[in-house]
Amino acid sequence: MPIRHHLSDQLLMAYAAGTLPEAFSLVVATHVSLCDECRARLGAFEAVGGAVLEEAPEAAVSSGSLAVTMQMIRNRGKDPIPAPRPVRQGLFPAPLRDYVGGDVEAVNWRSIGGGVRQAILPTARDASVRLLFIPAGHAVPDHGHSGMELTQVLQGAFRDEDERFGPGDIEIATEETNHTPVAEAGLDCICLAATDAPLRFNALIPRMAQPFLRI
Ligand code: ZN
Ligand code: ZN
Repeated sequence: MPIRHHLSDQLLMAYAAGTLPEAFSLVVATHVSLCDECRARLGAFEAVGGAVLEEAPEAAVSSGSLAVTMQMIRNRGKDPIPAPRPVRQGLFPAPLRDYVGGDVEAVNWRSIGGGVRQAILPTARDASVRLLFIPAGHAVPDHGHSGMELTQVLQGAFRDEDERFGPGDIEIATEETNHTPVAEAGLDCICLAATDAPLRFNALIPRMAQPFLRI
């Protein structure tokens, strides 16, 4: 089934520039490894980042954080055409498998009630990322995010308001999003969800766009 819900340009740019919190980077990397369209768009942003550095190194160094600059240097020598996707074995794409230390059977699930299970993955503390297992037909429990949330569907599907999110789809929810996801009947739903603290993400957008706007 084709992927219908994709990453935004802002998230892809921030990922290319290395300004996303680790938890969000993992979700972006997971989506990109499942999605040809977003992988191609990411390649274009990485190429732009490299060009900015080559044409205006002083501006890039003085305007951005060290992390952004270092990421741009790393991106500089990269082939802008994304590598072919490796053949997938199991449910988790490679970036997620690396964090879990295996596929879905290696996950250390904890019950959080109502048949729902979660596993919080170890990342830097500026944002958090967890795997969620929601039995078919159940609602996603209240997880109290007040900033941005990125939810990547790995198996099954959920509905949120009028939208359906199936395997490969990513939902970008903010605190303004009216947000009550319910897993569809049929297959149990497994998602990877990153959440951020309030305001942090809003502060991120001008910073991450900056290196790319200096052409
Ligand atoms: Zn996509
Ligand atoms: Zn949510």
